[in-house]
Amino acid sequence: MIRLNRVSYFYEDFKVLDNISFDVKKNERIVLLGNNGSGKSTLLKLLAGLIFANEGEYFFNGKKITKSYLKTNAKEFRKEVSILFQNPETMLFNATVKEEIEFSLNEFDIKKDAKDVAKEFEIEHLLDKNPLTLSGGQKQLVALAAIFANNPSTLLLDEPTANLDPKSAGWLIDFLNEKELTTIISTHNLSLALELGNKALVLDNTHKIIFDGKIEELFENKEILLKANLIHKHKHKHKNLLHSHYHIHDWS
Ligand code: ADP
Repeated sequence: MIRLNRVSYFYEDFKVLDNISFDVKKNERIVLLGNNGSGKSTLLKLLAGLIFANEGEYFFNGKKITKSYLKTNAKEFRKEVSILFQNPETMLFNATVKEEIEFSLNEFDIKKDAKDVAKEFEIEHLLDKNPLTLSGGQKQLVALAAIFANNPSTLLLDEPTANLDPKSAGWLIDFLNEKELTTIISTHNLSLALELGNKALVLDNTHKIIFDGKIEELFENKEILLKANLIHKHKHKHKNLLHSHYHIHDWS
């Protein structure tokens, strides 16, 4: 479904993604882990077709995603692939939550009532509010409702739990798990990884993928976790990694 083949991306002459290759199958749940600055957001933007590889190739459902391909096929691609940015404000531009959702529904010619979409996200009571006056977590739910209006097959989420209180974060995780979806979710929070997916991709500070496999295997690989700065060097304080794993529920 998704294939990246030796993709590199530069901001000016600064390489932010270095020779990245991986495959994602339909309905896989991928957690994209890495320190701040490792390139997670950049990679998600590239997968969303918002920026394009300087080197290498990106295929979605067998189609090579390039700027020129999207010039004629953007609608079809964007109906399938949605991205939720870390900062939801950048996605909200309508006067009310209702209009925000209706905008998405209209864009993709979906005959659905904004109220029904809002109900699913438990934001019905916010329908008449201005999205920009909401709390960070509420904004994120509104942005999510808007991008979900077209029922995408692939969802890219950039640190989605960062702005959410524990209850909303738990709700979001359950919500995503109940959907038939391919998800790629970025986080720098190792303790959330098992909740967010079953496969991990790890970016290190040299912007390379240093792990691609099952999350359970990642948890056993201290060398990779240290290299990606996902655990501290003071690991003697935590007898073993399972310790942090068993603390995942602290936040919920
Ligand atoms: P992450 O999401 O893992 O925190 P990012 O993808 O946001 O990482 O950033 C990776 C690197 O690219 C960082 O060093 C960041 O400073 C740099 N970067 C991000 N956006 C831009 C930009 N628009 N112009 C120049 N450099 C950028």
